[in-house]
Amino acid sequence: MKYPYEVIGKPNLYENIAKCFNKAADIIKLDPNIRKILAKTTNEIIVNFPVKMDSGSIEVFTGYRVQHNNALGPYKGGIRYHPDVDINAVRALAILMTWKSVITGIPFGGGKGGVQVDPSKYSMGELERITRRFTYALGQNIGPEYDIPAPDVNTNSQIMAWILDTYLSGIQPQERNRNVHVVTGKPVESGGSLGRDKATGQGVVYCIEQWAKDNKFNLNGAAYIVQGYGNVGSWVGKLMKQHGSRLIAVEDVTGAIYSPKGIDADDIAAYVSKTGGVRNYSKADEIDHDKFLSIDADIFVPAALGNQITKENAPDINVKLIAEGANGPTAPEGDEILRQKKIDVIPDILCNSGGVIVSYFEWLQNKRSEFWELEEVDTKLYKKIIDAYHKVKETAEKYKVNWRIGAYIVALSRLEVVYKERGIFP
Ligand code: NAD
Repeated sequence: MKYPYEVIGKPNLYENIAKCFNKAADIIKLDPNIRKILAKTTNEIIVNFPVKMDSGSIEVFTGYRVQHNNALGPYKGGIRYHPDVDINAVRALAILMTWKSVITGIPFGGGKGGVQVDPSKYSMGELERITRRFTYALGQNIGPEYDIPAPDVNTNSQIMAWILDTYLSGIQPQERNRNVHVVTGKPVESGGSLGRDKATGQGVVYCIEQWAKDNKFNLNGAAYIVQGYGNVGSWVGKLMKQHGSRLIAVEDVTGAIYSPKGIDADDIAAYVSKTGGVRNYSKADEIDHDKFLSIDADIFVPAALGNQITKENAPDINVKLIAEGANGPTAPEGDEILRQKKIDVIPDILCNSGGVIVSYFEWLQNKRSEFWELEEVDTKLYKKIIDAYHKVKETAEKYKVNWRIGAYIVALSRLEVVYKERGIFP
């Protein structure tokens, strides 16, 4: 079989997921025709749009929305604001969303979007105008039954509220209240779900709990490190604290800190909210990136960007478990080294799926004009993610592959059945 993805530029997240896709497809002997379909994205939208800056000058930004597959439901996936956002990155992330929705059994497809921008350089007013102009430029390429964005790196519930408001302003007034499910991850007051804010971190911690149970490992007193202390990383910290686990190192875009006695997860979260990063936190020592990655700990939660664990640094990693909060943090060559070192990996498309699962709950609540209690959200999230956990584990054991390839096999096998049942129009 010919390498089905077109790889542009240097090795990247897109190339990494192509390798996993090919490996899983080879193992299950995926029908070559279905392989061709799933290897491609369906739509790739690139928009250049002007925004007025506070100074009165105009800047033109580039935004993306990639829709990979909607065989099982509307396209679904986050919006990222980051200077590294480009078509390859968004493509890769859109494809991961398709697999994630299938694995967790929610009726969505995969999409992803982003704007190539460093939001730390802009005022709140400028960010609002960037968001509104991006939404306007996307126009009917998003929609509550068609393609539903959510938060990702450097976007949050406020940005979702602006997207919602801009989208609704282009709709007939009598239709507006029936379209609030155009985005998820909204503020609760504007139609968001209880528990969505913590959902991704909560899902990561449910997976870690299950792994601990399976391995008879005591989380109380266990040492763990987190890369990225934004939405996902900080919620992992807060929830692991309830188990009595010890957060001994944190790294983010501003630097890395270390304290073998433990860093209080809530205190560092408050510090990061105030200052924008972990740098200069007085209750821990500053360390460099290499030292951070080689710390002796029980669990490592990458919760920042992709391509962090590579063939170069995987040999130095010294933990029992990697629970991937981030999308695509481990390159395939890194994965292989982790396997040789007998480090367990709960892969991104399973481990961080709590976000899209609770996004689905938010979307359902909006459609049904319901509002669920937090307990109901958490109970349903637990069931869905732990069901997916067992499915991936059993598949990996059956095919004697790592969990990432096991997860891809779950996704590809189901989509193969769907395409065979429905056939291709005309
Ligand atoms: P966020 O913007 O809230 O936080 C990102 C964190 O990463 C920040 O702490 C930032 O300082 C850090 N970071 C950025 N660049 C870094 C670098 N070069 N080195 C170290 N740290 C760096 O974003 P988030 O929503 O927490 O998302 C984090 C990851 O989780 C992303 O990979 C995202 O795709 C994934 N994810 C998020 C959700 C969600 O619901 N938000 C769902 C699934 C997956």
